Order: sequence, then structure tokens, then C-alpha cells
Amino acid sequence: MTITDQIQPTTPPDKERLRRKYLEERNKRLRPDGNDQYVQIKGRLAHYLDDPYTPVTPRAPKTDHVTFAFIGGGFAGLVTAARLVEAGIRDVRIIEKGGDFGGTGTGTCATRARKCIASMIYMPLLEETGHMPSEKYAHAPEILAHCQRIGRKYDLYDNALFHTEVVSLDWDEAKSHWLIRTNRGDAFTAQFVGMGTGPLHVPKLPGIPGIETFKGHSFHTSRWDYDYTGGDPSGALMEKLADKRVGIIGTGATAVQCVPHLARACKELYVFQRTPSSVDVRANAPIDPHWFAEIATPGWQQRWLENFTANQAGGTAEVDLVQDGWTDLNRRIRARIIQLPREQRTPPNMLAAFEDSDFEKMEEIRARVDAIVRDPETAARLKAWYRQLCKRPCFHDSYLQAFNKPGTHLVDTDGKGVEKITERGVVVAGREYPLDCIIYASGFEVGTEYKRRAGFDLAGRDGKKLSDHWAQGMRTKHGIHVHGFPNAFFVQPTQGANLISNIPHNLTEAARTIAMMVSHARKTGAKEIEVTKEAEDGWIALLLTGPGRMIGSQDCTPGYYNNEGQEPGPAAKLNVGYPAGALAYFKYIDAWRSSGQFEGLEFR
Ligand code: NDP
Repeated sequence: MTITDQIQPTTPPDKERLRRKYLEERNKRLRPDGNDQYVQIKGRLAHYLDDPYTPVTPRAPKTDHVTFAFIGGGFAGLVTAARLVEAGIRDVRIIEKGGDFGGTGTGTCATRARKCIASMIYMPLLEETGHMPSEKYAHAPEILAHCQRIGRKYDLYDNALFHTEVVSLDWDEAKSHWLIRTNRGDAFTAQFVGMGTGPLHVPKLPGIPGIETFKGHSFHTSRWDYDYTGGDPSGALMEKLADKRVGIIGTGATAVQCVPHLARACKELYVFQRTPSSVDVRANAPIDPHWFAEIATPGWQQRWLENFTANQAGGTAEVDLVQDGWTDLNRRIRARIIQLPREQRTPPNMLAAFEDSDFEKMEEIRARVDAIVRDPETAARLKAWYRQLCKRPCFHDSYLQAFNKPGTHLVDTDGKGVEKITERGVVVAGREYPLDCIIYASGFEVGTEYKRRAGFDLAGRDGKKLSDHWAQGMRTKHGIHVHGFPNAFFVQPTQGANLISNIPHNLTEAARTIAMMVSHARKTGAKEIEVTKEAEDGWIALLLTGPGRMIGSQDCTPGYYNNEGQEPGPAAKLNVGYPAGALAYFKYIDAWRSSGQFEGLEFR
């Protein structure tokens, strides 16, 4: 089935009824503790962070010097390193806490998880590596293999430090370089540092009473325990679960990937749900090599990236190359706006068109649940009652179907969440569900302070800590540079394009920008690159002129997209992007770096 063949709801939506229902469901879920409902994984819970994938190889501590050190071996580090190598900077050292390249996007995903973003735009450097993804949505092992391919192609392995966590980063004023210390005893220096440590790499656990008392087995989805479950990341049946009662807590994007595999393998599977995800058609399919050979002409991936962003983030592309649920929603909104006479295309009318398309889309998604899930009560509980972009939209072709299996049980908590965990299992509404294993699909730290998410702080010029500089919220230019922290670059979406659908597009653009700046410094003999205070302040002022989110965060069900439904404080208000949108940002940053002026930066 394709996106356009979806089940159509039979009657036009009653908008007032829907608005009331959305509000009612949101109110059920609002909690005064917001982000504090989650607990940091440390102390008695620290074992949830153990890396079960690769054995730690002993090595001598590093005390040398490199031109560029990058913290994080996921896509951010790989694409930045690749662009630096292309620019002739060969001594790039990636520091990664896992045992290989891959970061959050790959090795940490559950069994045969696939991304909900098409491989053609999600997997970076496809053109450079000459790789054709096997499917529209590649699964995790293919993405991991691609990370390794990038590592090999750009010769990044020899210099990389795996199973290594940075503990401190100190700017040495006299020598214009950074001193990097790690948990493996390293103390080496780098002229430049890049950071790709987030936003979704530190797992979090729900602060459910009794969480530490469970006597069975348990793990977080980011540390999938194949020794316990059997199977492997390529999707082999998790045969060791055949006699097990397994509970999974959480029904976000990660759980949507895992549940079908668990349902296939477990004796009994209990899915503990607080808020249902919206799960639309994915329509995965193999990529035809003949088709790929035709479209893969020079510059193809950049064209696809820009086309997706234009279709998804408010642009006006004629064609839709990716054709997925993300672009579908935006194209529907645009079609409605175009129907309006020109003089009626006012912001309120456009927002109304957005809301109408959203209602229409969500009604389809809810109708799809009824069409797939046989038990009407289960179907009713799997329906999402909020606007589609309030939470990460999910796309899957076998998640809802999993609830038709006799051994799969939805335990809906009606917005309240799991009540407590005991030695034997999970309690909801006073009933205990005895379990052999609990899997936490409870997500990653997003709204917490940088030091907590990164695991280290930076001490910049005059020893100033980044955590102090950002005490009232993130302050950067382009999301990359921070005044007082020379030669340090952040590779992430916030305060740049802020394109939350296809994160790798943000990363590949930042990587290009950084490689051009570092090349410029080398050509001109500059030892330091730093954003001026005025330029940083000016950028923040510009960001704050933006329209904010198209859906007010107060109108959404709580989640990490809207600060768990709490009124955004001064810090959360700075978690925004370029006011004119992602596509405009990418055009702007291309012109900014190509001019060779690097306006707002000082090269010394
Ligand atoms: P999320 O933060 O999206 O989901 C956490 C889940 O845990 C939610 O369903 C939440 O419920 C639930 N939860 C929390 N506390 C409790 C409780 N006390 N009782 C019951 N349930 C509870 O994390 P994910 O790991 O699912 O996804 C994180 C992000 O990773 C995604 O948003 C996406 O950006 C990325 N990702 C993308 C994928 C893709 O592209 N396919 C795949 C996987 C991840 P509630 O909703 O009520 O808060």
C-alpha cells in the first residue's frame, strides 16, 4: 500500500470535537515534574549504560597532538571528519564511547530497526562512497555498515579512540589549543575540537517507583541485550524469548520499531503505553539498481536533501523525490493554501489550512488503526489524539499488526504511566503483570543541561565554563560557534536549520562549514577562530524574532518536543532555528561560507 492508498475516514472531521478531545487527552498527561519525571542513569542504575556490543581493547593513553579532535563517532563526527579529510586535513581523531563508529543512529538501535527517514537522504555521503541503499528505509545493520564504510574510505580508524569518554576539555590560551582528557587516561591536545554529542545519545529511564527492585532481567533499548534475547541486529528471530514474558515500557518511535520483532519472538509481550504514537504507512521497498543508476548523476544526494527539506519544511518544490509521510503532510497543507484566493493567504488562514490538513491526516491515521487492529478496544486505545507533529510521527508497516497476535497485550495506562515496578513485574492501575524481562523504550535526555547530556564541560578562554555561558540557555552563532570558546564547533541542529525530521541534513551542512573555516585558517596562518560577542548576540536576537513553532507547545500533548508540556523557560525559548526556516537557513549558510568572509568570526 502506498501513502495515497490509505484508508479514508468516512465523514469530514468535526473540528470542535477533535479540539476538545486533544485538549482532554493533553490534560490527562500534564505532570508538574516535567522533565524531572525521568531519572539520570547512574548509581544503582549505572549498569543500564554498559555497552554489550564490543569488547574493550586495552591501549596505552594518548598524549600527542592532532589538528582536529571530534567527540562522538556518529554521523556528525563522520561527516565532519570526511569533509576535513577532503580539505586536506588528515589528522582527525574521533573519540567515541561505543566500540565502533555509528553513534545513536545505528549500533544502539533495537533489532532490525529501520529509520523513519528514507535512506536516500538519511544516510550521509552516499554519493561519495558510491553506496546504493538496499531499501527505501535501510535497517540498522546497513546503516552501521555504512558508518564503517565512511570510516574506512576516509581512513578514520587508525586515529580513532573507541570505548573512550571525554571527561574534560580545557582551552590552553598560551598555545591556542585544547587539552582533552578521557576516562582511558588520555591527555592529548588538538588545535580544533568538534562536538557531536547529542541530542539523542544519553538514555533516560522513567522515575517509576520501585524501578531498582525488579529481580528479572531488564535493559534500555539503546543497549539491546542479544545475549538474553537471542537473535541479532540483522533481524534473526530472538529465539531465547520463546518462553519469556516480556514487558516494554514506552510506545515512542523506538518501541514502534521493536514491538513487531518482540511480538514475533516472545511467549507473552506486554506493551505498556502512556501515549500512543501516530503510526502511518511506511511502504518500505527494495531500491531498484536500474532506477538508482539513472538518478545517481553528479550532485544527486544534495538535490534529494534539498528537495526533501523544500517539501517538508515549508518550501515550494514542484516535485517530491522522497514521497513519504513527512512530505505528504506539507504538500497537503500547501495544496490547501494554493486553493485560497491570493488576498486570503494570511497567516491565520494558513494556520487554519495547516490545522485542517492535520485533522484530515490524523483521522486517516486513526482510521488505519481500525482497519488493521481486529480487537475494537485495543484499536481504540492505539489511536493518537494530538496533532501529528506534536510528537515524532512514526511510519511502520507491521507495528499495529503486532497487536493482532494472541500473545501481544496492550496495557494502556490512560495517560497515567506505569504506576510502580515490583520485584516481579510492572503494576498498572493496581494490577501486577509478572514479567521475566522489562525493556525500557523510554527515550533519551533532551531538555537537560548540556554538561549532563555530553558527560563533560568545556573550560574556554579564562577558564570560563560552557555550563556557565549557557546557564540561561544555549548561545551560539549558527548553532556552531560560541564566544569565549575558540576553535570549538558544535555539530547539531538547534540555532541553525533546526530541521528535526532529517537530522543528517543539518550535520552535513555544518560539516561543510567547519571544513571551509578550518581550511581558511590554515591558508591564512590563523591559529584561532572565534565568533565575536556581537555576532553571537546578534544571532540570538535574530532567532528570537522567529515565529516559534507553528503548533504552540501549549497545544500539544507533553513530550520532549515541547519541554514535556511545561511553559518554556528562557532556556527552552532558545531551542529554536533560523526564523525563515530550514531551507532558507541552508541557502544562507552556503552563501555565508562561500563568500570567504566568515562574517562575525575572527581569525587570529
Ligand atoms: P521517546 O522519548 O519518543 O519515547 C519514550 C516513551 O516512553 C514514550 O512513549 C513515553 O510516553 C514513554 N514513557 C515514559 N515514561 C513512562 C512511564 N512512566 N510509563 C509508561 N510510559 C512511559 O523515545 P524513543 O526512544 O522512542 O525515541 C526518541 C527519538 O529517537 C525519536 O523521537 C526519534 O527522533 C528518534 N528515533 C527515530 C526513529 C526513526 O526514525 N524510526 C527510531 C527510533 C528513534 P509519553 O509519550 O506519554 O511521554
